[in-house]
Amino acid sequence: MSPDPTTLLAYSTVLFLIFGLYFTAAELAHGKTRKAFWYSSPFLAASVSGFFFTSPFLIPGLWGLRIGAVFMTLAYGLGWQAIRTMLGRRTCLKAVLIVCVVSLAISASAASSGTRHVVSSIVRMLFITGFHFQAARDLLCSTEKQTSAERLLCRIIAFYTLVYGALTLSTPFLPEPLGSQPSTVWAIILYNFLVIIEGIVIALAMIAIPRERLAAEHHLLTLQDPLTHAGNRRAVDLWMEQNAGSSHPCVLFLMDIDHFKAINDHHGHTAGDQVIIAAVRASQKVLPQEAKFFRIGGEEFAALFPFTSISHALELAHRLKKTFTQDVKNIGERGIEATLSIGADIRYSSKTLWSDVWQKADAALYAAKGTGRDAVVLRANDTITSPPFAVETKKASPHGG
Ligand code: GH3
Ligand code: MG
Ligand code: MG
Repeated sequence: MSPDPTTLLAYSTVLFLIFGLYFTAAELAHGKTRKAFWYSSPFLAASVSGFFFTSPFLIPGLWGLRIGAVFMTLAYGLGWQAIRTMLGRRTCLKAVLIVCVVSLAISASAASSGTRHVVSSIVRMLFITGFHFQAARDLLCSTEKQTSAERLLCRIIAFYTLVYGALTLSTPFLPEPLGSQPSTVWAIILYNFLVIIEGIVIALAMIAIPRERLAAEHHLLTLQDPLTHAGNRRAVDLWMEQNAGSSHPCVLFLMDIDHFKAINDHHGHTAGDQVIIAAVRASQKVLPQEAKFFRIGGEEFAALFPFTSISHALELAHRLKKTFTQDVKNIGERGIEATLSIGADIRYSSKTLWSDVWQKADAALYAAKGTGRDAVVLRANDTITSPPFAVETKKASPHGG
């Protein structure tokens, strides 16, 4: 049994109509009229094209086929616009419409064979290649981190840019609709398969991309503290897991706001929240740009940054403490007096477990609290020639307005 091109065309027409209606309904259900239009339009244009190709006799002369061809070109142009919409870029419908009108005008001046017909076919293929190229370029130039479906879409469109580029060069020799010579059954079937496979992959990618993006956003939210937008305890655990094999020496600060419960009691919970945010801001101001900062509990924080020297780590801890105490004086009308205690440890090599470093920094924080708070305690490795246990204390200031 040999495949029947008209039936195949009819199937692809219906398939594209279903995709078009799906995107219209799915986006309208979320109140996204603009997306509904741009996502469905390439598929609806492709189904209109398929309709004219299956029933070219509905319009006299060659006009049925010409309109079918121009709608196919339009479908690719609109597909490029759908990708721009998905990437959050402005659409350029005018350029697409101009290209389609030019394509139709050239094909209107051509007969069903001859030089003009060949030129008209080459121009159409060239426009289709151009739309693919622009879509691939937009996807490649996207600054956002791509999801796996976006990468697949980019590869598929780049592949089709090459396919249509090759077809443009071979147009004078290939049968229609692949080229400009009299059509053959295998050419119609092959072209149909090319179009159907591309349409299905693009539609599936466009369904998957928003879902993947949403999942990525949710994943990020599970790692973020909603008050300070710093990473949370889960994020620090993940960071340590990912950096278990890192051989770069690294400093760990564990910090705790002193007598925070009393600050809440005196100034209220909202002011307390501002104090927590101030601790994050102070760390961002003082610590190196590469530093990672996490809120690991109510008024407890962790910071990780590359180790340079013990004296530098100590200096940063003291500056951070000072900046925090200074900054909280600007909270509210009366200002707040608050201090920080910092316990620190250094991880010199990948042989040391992060859990051990954490434990030592925690013990150092406990020691800082034990000295009367508002203190920095840094536990250095015994192999270091500098004093292995550096403690600096200062009596905790009374908090209150
Ligand atoms: P210490 O100096 O020993 O650290 O004492 P502390 O009062 O700071 O510590 P404690 O653990 O007794 O109290 C922590 C308080 O932090 C208790 C809790 O109500 C408050 N807290 C936890 N999360 C938040 C938050 O998101 N906002 C505010 N405003 N307070 C919080
Ligand atoms: Mg505390
Ligand atoms: Mg605490």
